[in-house]
Amino acid sequence: MVEPPEPFEPEGPQPPPLPLICQSCGMPMGKGSDFGTNADNSRNREYCGHCFMKGKFTNPNMTMEQMVEHMEGMAARMKMSKGQVRKAALKLLPKLKRWKR
Ligand SMILES: [Zn+2]
Repeated sequence: MVEPPEPFEPEGPQPPPLPLICQSCGMPMGKGSDFGTNADNSRNREYCGHCFMKGKFTNPNMTMEQMVEHMEGMAARMKMSKGQVRKAALKLLPKLKRWKR
C-alpha cells in the first residue's frame, strides 16, 4: 500500500521558539499571527496583534489599570478567578516595556 504524499503547507518563516510575550498585555506569542505589525507591515516582535497594529497601539490611551481590568475580563477563559488574574497582572505588567517607567 502506498501512502499518499503529505500535503505540504508552507507557513512562512516561523519565529524561533523563544518565550516571547507581548510587552503590553503579557500574552505569550508563538505563531506569526500572534505578533503585531509595524507601519511597513513587517512583524513586530515586542507586541501582539491585539495591542499593536501597523506601527501603533490599538488603544494608545490605555492605562495599566485599564489593562489589568481587561485581563480580569478574560479570567474565565483562562480558568482563573478575577482576583488571581489581577494579582498576576499587577506582578507582570510593571515589568513590561509599555508600562515600565
Ligand atoms: Zn498584547
